[in-house]
Amino acid sequence: MICEIISVGTEVVTGDIIDTNAPYLSKELISLGIDVMFRVSVRDDDETIRQALTLAKERSDLIITIGGLGPTYDDFTKEEVASVNGLKLVRDEKIALKIKDYFEKTGRVMTENNLSQADIIEGSNPIDNDNGTAPGILLEKDGKTFILLPGPPNELKPMFENKIKPYLINKTGKFILERTVKLSGIGESFVENDLKDLILKVKNPIIATYAKTGECHVKLTAEGNTMEEAQKILAPYLEKVEIRFSKYIYGYDSDTLSGKAVELLKKKGMKVSFCESCTGGFISKTITDVPGASDVFDCGMVTYSNEMKSRLVGVSPIALSKVGAVSEEVAHQMAKGVRCLSGADIGISVTGIAGPGGGSDEKPVGLVYMGFSTPTSTVTKRFHFRGNREKVRQSTVNAVLSALINYLK
Ligand code: ATP
Ligand code: MG
Repeated sequence: MICEIISVGTEVVTGDIIDTNAPYLSKELISLGIDVMFRVSVRDDDETIRQALTLAKERSDLIITIGGLGPTYDDFTKEEVASVNGLKLVRDEKIALKIKDYFEKTGRVMTENNLSQADIIEGSNPIDNDNGTAPGILLEKDGKTFILLPGPPNELKPMFENKIKPYLINKTGKFILERTVKLSGIGESFVENDLKDLILKVKNPIIATYAKTGECHVKLTAEGNTMEEAQKILAPYLEKVEIRFSKYIYGYDSDTLSGKAVELLKKKGMKVSFCESCTGGFISKTITDVPGASDVFDCGMVTYSNEMKSRLVGVSPIALSKVGAVSEEVAHQMAKGVRCLSGADIGISVTGIAGPGGGSDEKPVGLVYMGFSTPTSTVTKRFHFRGNREKVRQSTVNAVLSALINYLK
């Protein structure tokens, strides 16, 4: 079933609001096995909306519109969907009563415009809006399905989840199972290369890789006539992926690097402290985003200047002047220093050049040293990350969390 999503709204086209509804719907629809092939944005203009709908009707089976269902002069979606299907709008008295009731209860004055929300396309099914007044509309005509959803996300999401999704599951008669295997410490190109045979040959499940900053995800999507069948189809391929990448797997589905690190630290009854330079507290922030981090996180220090590296965690001024702050030796001393100072089981440090300035031939932008200190040893690792400042810093955070997870595993 080919699906097209049309976001109606001048603000969406001009970039004044970010279209969050369409990506949400895309993800949901794809997880139901529906082929979302087109996503279009159009201005609040009747002629433009009609053009988009006419094209969508030619090339798609399921057309979902977002927005333009309200009572104001710039809301045209309903009128145009009716028009391209050669249908009229008719007043639904039950909805009209509900709208009047809503205005009475909230003590607001109702104008005639508001009642226009009770006009629905003849032969369609209105969909109750539990969080607003404009109902959604479901129309099946000439083998095509139109679903009209309200624009405000707090109205659209519950309507989709509670009313549209059950309808679509019933309509497709398919069950989709998705599993994501999350890897760190390995690049996407290596993963893709290793999985090339499966990615190209196997159609069910679909196997795809996704590069994320500092991690890589392998997503398997299986389709079956029942959930059990989808599970059976997916299982042997999930196992293949697990065997090929066992060393790099840190989690599955909604797992995050920081969540996994906290979980493993808890399991081992260990605590960690960080001494950060180029990340400016980003590692500590990421770990404390996880609820319950206080059980495993002792302290995070940001020693940005050389002086503070010496005064707070005891980095030798000689090392700083001889080899510089971005060096193996300084990373080593920072990690050991913060571990001893805090009494944590693990001390981790980072020092690097996040850019855009400050790089040289010898020490280019993206060069980062990590120190990893435990009571039995202190080791350092050198990284050279690509990308802008934000990317270098994010890659650094992820590298630290991966190292922590690997150690704890
Ligand atoms: P209303 O009854 O509020 O007029 P509507 O169904 O007519 O609802 P629009 O007028 O198109 O919807 O949009 C109302 C508001 O909903 C927008 O101002 C915006 O805040 C939000 N909105 C609309 N479309 C989107 C979208 N695609 N993504 C995110 N938010 C959106
Ligand atoms: Mg509107």
